[in-house]
Amino acid sequence: MVGKKEILDILNSYDKDNITIATLGSHTSLHILKGAKKEGFKTLVITMEGKDKPYKRFRVADEFLYVKNYSDIVKEEIQEELRKRNTIIIPHGSFIAYAGLDNLEKDFYVPMFGNRFILRWESERDLERKLLSEAGIRIPKKFEKPEDIDRTVIVKFPGARGGRGYFVCNSTEEFYKKFEDFVNKGFLTKDDLEKAHIEEYVIGANYCLHYFFSPLKQEVELLGIDRRYESNIDGLVRIPAKDQLELNIPASYVITGNFPVVIRESLLTQVFDMGDKLAETTKNIVPPGLIGPFCLQTLCTDNLEIVVFEMSARVDGGTNTFMNGSPYSYILFDEPMSMGQRIAREIKWALIADKLNLVVS
Ligand code: ATP
Repeated sequence: MVGKKEILDILNSYDKDNITIATLGSHTSLHILKGAKKEGFKTLVITMEGKDKPYKRFRVADEFLYVKNYSDIVKEEIQEELRKRNTIIIPHGSFIAYAGLDNLEKDFYVPMFGNRFILRWESERDLERKLLSEAGIRIPKKFEKPEDIDRTVIVKFPGARGGRGYFVCNSTEEFYKKFEDFVNKGFLTKDDLEKAHIEEYVIGANYCLHYFFSPLKQEVELLGIDRRYESNIDGLVRIPAKDQLELNIPASYVITGNFPVVIRESLLTQVFDMGDKLAETTKNIVPPGLIGPFCLQTLCTDNLEIVVFEMSARVDGGTNTFMNGSPYSYILFDEPMSMGQRIAREIKWALIADKLNLVVS
C-alpha cells in the first residue's frame, strides 16, 4: 500500500513555489486545469497523440505529457516525470479507470489530491451500500435473488457497461424473460445471471449533488447539482406510449451528458444532512475520510424523500455543468467557482497554511 509517509516524503522534496497540477485529459480535466490556472498553478495534461486537441484549443494546459496508452499513466517513467515537475494529481473517473484501483493503492507514488483509499468504496457496489447505510442515508432496497422480486425493480450488472444491459421488471417471471432476451440480443451472457444486482426502482426526479469536503474548514460545501441525460432512455420517452409498445425497444441508461438544475429550497436541509453524515461516517470507516469532491446521485420521490442510488468519492462528471460556477457556488463564493477551481483553492490554502498533508494521499 502506498503509505502516507512516503507521499509526504515526496511532497517534502518538492519545490513548493513551483507546484504543477496535473490530470489525464478526459472526463472533467478542462475545468480542473482551468481552475488550477486561475489559482496560479502551472498545469499539465497527460494525453495521447490524436486526443490532445481539446486541451490545445481551450488552452488549459501549460505542459503536455504524452503517453502511448492511457493506462501508461502508472508506469514508473511517467511517475518519475510527474514527481520531477512537483506534481499533484487530481484523480477523476477516467483517470481512476485507466490507472486501475490496485495500481493507485499499491504502486502509484505521486501525491494525489483526496483520499485514494476511499475510491474502492465507491467502485464496489457492496462497499458503497455499506458506507451509505452506515451513514444512515436512504438507499434503494436490494433483492438477494430474482425469486424475491415483489415490486418494480431495476436490474444492474457489473463492469463498465454504463447502463447498457440494465433492465426494469415487475416480477420473477419477467426478470427471467428479460434476462434471456438480453442474452439472445448479446447484451448479456448467461454467466451474468449470478452477478445481477436487483434493486427497488425508485420513481422520482434525478438530482446529482456535488459536494466538497474541506479538511481545512472542516465543512461540507454544496457546489452544484446536475441531472443526467441518458441514452436511449431520454430519447425513448419522446416516443408516444402506444408506439413505444409496438416498437419494443429495450431501454438503456448510457450517460451522454448532463443538465444543470437547482433543487427546491426546502430540500436543501436534507441535502446538507446527507453530505454531512457521509463525511462524518467516512472518517471512521476509511480514515481520514472524504477529502474534496464527492457526489450523491439521487432520485427525489413525490413524498420529497431523497434516495441515493450511487455515489462518487471524487470529482463527478456532472461538475462539467458548472465550469463557470453554479447558483450554489455563486452564493458561497461570490465568484464563478467550478469544482476544479475549488480543488485548486484548497491546495493553495493548504500550501499557505503548510497543511498539504491534510489534502493529499
Ligand atoms: P454510472 O456509474 O456511469 O453513473 P452505472 O452504470 O453505475 O452508471 P447507475 O448510475 O447505477 O449505473 O444507473 C444508471 C441510471 O439508471 C441512473 O442514472 C438512473 O437513470 C437509473 N437508475 C439507477 N438506479 C435506479 C433506481 N434504483 N431507480 C430508478 N432508476 C435508477
